[in-house]
Amino acid sequence: MIKGYKTQIMDYYEKIRYHERKALQERKDNIKREHPEILDLENEIGRLSIKLSMDILRHGNADDVVSKTREAITDLRVQKAELLVAYGYGQDYLSMHYQCSKCNDTGYIGTKRCSCFDRYLVKLYYKSSELAESIKTNNFNTFNLDFYSPRSDGSEKFSPRDNIEQILSYIKNDYIPNFKNHSVNMLFYGDPGTGKTFMTQCIAKELLDKGFLVIYKTSDELNKDLRTITFDNDKALEESLINCDLLIIDDLGAEQITDFSVTNFFTFLNKKLIKNKKMLISTNLLLSDLTKSYTERITSRLFGNFRLQKFYTEDIRIQKKSLRQNRFSEKTILNQ
Ligand SMILES: [Zn+2]
Repeated sequence: MIKGYKTQIMDYYEKIRYHERKALQERKDNIKREHPEILDLENEIGRLSIKLSMDILRHGNADDVVSKTREAITDLRVQKAELLVAYGYGQDYLSMHYQCSKCNDTGYIGTKRCSCFDRYLVKLYYKSSELAESIKTNNFNTFNLDFYSPRSDGSEKFSPRDNIEQILSYIKNDYIPNFKNHSVNMLFYGDPGTGKTFMTQCIAKELLDKGFLVIYKTSDELNKDLRTITFDNDKALEESLINCDLLIIDDLGAEQITDFSVTNFFTFLNKKLIKNKKMLISTNLLLSDLTKSYTERITSRLFGNFRLQKFYTEDIRIQKKSLRQNRFSEKTILNQ
């Protein structure tokens, strides 16, 4: 769940900073042992910096005493850097090192989330999602075109193979490479066992690997999340579902459909569309059944704002089953 992620990420930043403070202390200890004169310079810089603040308070910023102290500090800093370099250290050896210099490992620049925050969020989400397991096996490398017959049975314009090749080509050559710059929503529809979920997981893996935040929900999970958002006013959850780079809603129509869930879904869909936030929905329902299950307002949004992709082939699960049975009977014959 996305809920609770913020605390985990803040803990993560705290750990990074702790680690860096410790590393700095070790570098200081090292210099203290090897070249204590550099540390003397550093202490003197510290002392003068305090004096500078006092002088500014007492005399104002433009005073002579103040500029003299400033010059003295600069001189000492130069001396320190020169000594460090002369002994073979980097000139920032005695400074705090940050993994992200934009936000100094705080995750925020002012009140705005730093880009590194989103990178950690993707990692964290990826690691803890069930998706991480399924995309080990379900990805473009294992996509098997053999499940799509090159022969047309006449019911569709293209053979199942030609159809899936067209879909694949669009996704691989256009949708994914240009993901950052487009706002294409897709609706995969077709009978169960035609590879829709598999294809959504292939897409999820590609985009996650590129560092996009992809959230994967079955329609049932989304339905529950939308209830939580409404009843518990869970802003963080809503924010993640709305603002992620891609929200995948798998198996729309399999959730328990009530007037309340339909209204909730409509409001949510609208928020995403207004903000141009991409969605990928898969459903086993026929387009005509979608209209029956949801309101006309929802289906008109879906048909008007989504690229519709029909999936069809002989049920892949049945094909796999008969493949296994064939292998089993071949073995049995061979062993006899
Ligand atoms: Zn940062």
